[in-house]
Amino acid sequence: MTSSSGTPGTGPGEGAALDGPIDPENPAATYVLEPEVVAPLAQRVVTGNEAGMHRSVLPFTGAPLAAFPVSSVEDVARAVDRARASQPAWAARSVRERAAVLRRFGELVLARQSDGLDLIQMESGKSRRSAFEEVADVAILTRHYARRGPRYLADRRAPGMLPVLTGTRVHRRPVGVVGVIAPWNYPLTLAFAEAVPALVAGNAVVLKPDPQTTLTALWGAELLEEAGLPADLFLVVAGGGDVGAAVTDHVDHIAFTGSTATGRKVAARAGERLIGATLELGGKNPLYVAADADVRAAARGAVRACFSNSGQLCVSIERIVLHEDVADAFLDEFVPLVREMRLGAGLDYSADMGSLTSQAQLDRVVAHVEDAIARGARVLAGGVHRADIGPWFYAPTVLDDVPDDAACAREETFGPVVSVRRVASDDEAVRVMNDSEFGLNASVWTRDVARGRRIAARVEAGTVNVNDGYSAAWGSVGAPMGGFKASGLGRRHGREGIEALTEAQTISVQRGANQGLTLDTLYGIGGELPSKVLTTALDAMRRLRLP
Ligand code: NAD
Repeated sequence: MTSSSGTPGTGPGEGAALDGPIDPENPAATYVLEPEVVAPLAQRVVTGNEAGMHRSVLPFTGAPLAAFPVSSVEDVARAVDRARASQPAWAARSVRERAAVLRRFGELVLARQSDGLDLIQMESGKSRRSAFEEVADVAILTRHYARRGPRYLADRRAPGMLPVLTGTRVHRRPVGVVGVIAPWNYPLTLAFAEAVPALVAGNAVVLKPDPQTTLTALWGAELLEEAGLPADLFLVVAGGGDVGAAVTDHVDHIAFTGSTATGRKVAARAGERLIGATLELGGKNPLYVAADADVRAAARGAVRACFSNSGQLCVSIERIVLHEDVADAFLDEFVPLVREMRLGAGLDYSADMGSLTSQAQLDRVVAHVEDAIARGARVLAGGVHRADIGPWFYAPTVLDDVPDDAACAREETFGPVVSVRRVASDDEAVRVMNDSEFGLNASVWTRDVARGRRIAARVEAGTVNVNDGYSAAWGSVGAPMGGFKASGLGRRHGREGIEALTEAQTISVQRGANQGLTLDTLYGIGGELPSKVLTTALDAMRRLRLP
């Protein structure tokens, strides 16, 4: 798919000049997305071509990457109309048939991963390892919903109003057209986290990816078609916030992943339209190392938890809370590991960490670190812009003594910056962890699993990982994932994630009506005698412990 040259970055630690594969003589030519790759993808955007072109950038160098047409607000309405027209035939197929298409899609993503990984890396600037997380995630998620979807969507019997006489079942019906709005940080994972269960449930999907990472989403659309998805069931509209707002204006459910600020706007519009909304928003996630923790394991886990995808990960750790008994021992392990991390821009597995995705991300990271230092924070590792590798590389950074009024103490940095804080007890740790407007993810390290579970149960976060940073809970795709407080609304993954994309419909069949046993009579509307009969019946049901 691409051409690249040079040698990947393998050099040691902080301050060393790590050689990325960028040709210093001609950095723009180092990575090329061939026109024959871009053109068929770009053609998939639903557009009348009046809205112009978007030019994306290669984060590794800042050079132009690709151009594709964007959609107008009218194009969004057209896309939703097309999706709506195709959805009933899809919903009429059996769940198993639909699930089989999604299973094939997951297999194709795995089989064609090398193309996908190149594309993800070039659009986002992330390392190959972080890109592979996305491929693995889609493969795991599609398998899960392909296997469990039929069970999640099966009719459920519910206790009838009157035992024997009322037969009640709950059906799950697709909502119709699900809109998905995705950010740039995990362009494959987050384009499909709701799209997969939505399609298994019999919906059509209209996706609006972030402009910087639209080609990855279009690549997914191509594979969905190859997997056998009929036309118009997964449509991609391209553009910025106006296009996202138009999607919210037309669909039957909106699944949004992005910042809390935008999430509030999407929720407000969904509220006006009275459509369902699933909102996966920001975090300021804590990791606690308890007094009995294996500090070496915790340090290794923390490196991945803080710096995967250069910290541009909603569930990544930005606050480390250390029990004072193990604080020094932990930092003695953790800080050297952070300093040894290899930064690089290779389209291979040589780098631990890639670039930030944009100048805006770099600006935010630099502002947070400078602000913390100005307020008295100490830099234990990193704290430097690595322009020697590429324009938006930033060293993985550990800050100590960060005062509470520093921006990075409370706001989401969404970069490779973590602050350290010491506590004297588990109780204090829980207080510190919960002292945030966010509540997305948390991590607890302890040798005592029962203690880990007890602490976890007191933490205000949608997912808590004991002896892992984030992958254990995120990767447990059969269990719900989402945020408390300002981190979101609703859940993805598991039964909750697919039920959110359906309407529950209760169908009750009343027996005996033709023999005069109508509910009017039985419920007492018919007068004094039926009222007495019903009272006696309810009393008997209570005694017999009937539902
Ligand atoms: P963002 O809110 O700026 O943009 C997200 C998407 O929303 C983009 O596609 C954008 O074009 C679109 N958008 C912008 N304005 C809109 C509007 N008014 N109506 C509809 N759509 C609109 O977020 P971002 O900066 O691209 O992403 C980073 C944020 O996403 C971080 O806060 C991160 O924590 C969060 N995130 C959360 C999760 C999660 O699962 N909780 C996962 C990944 C990222």
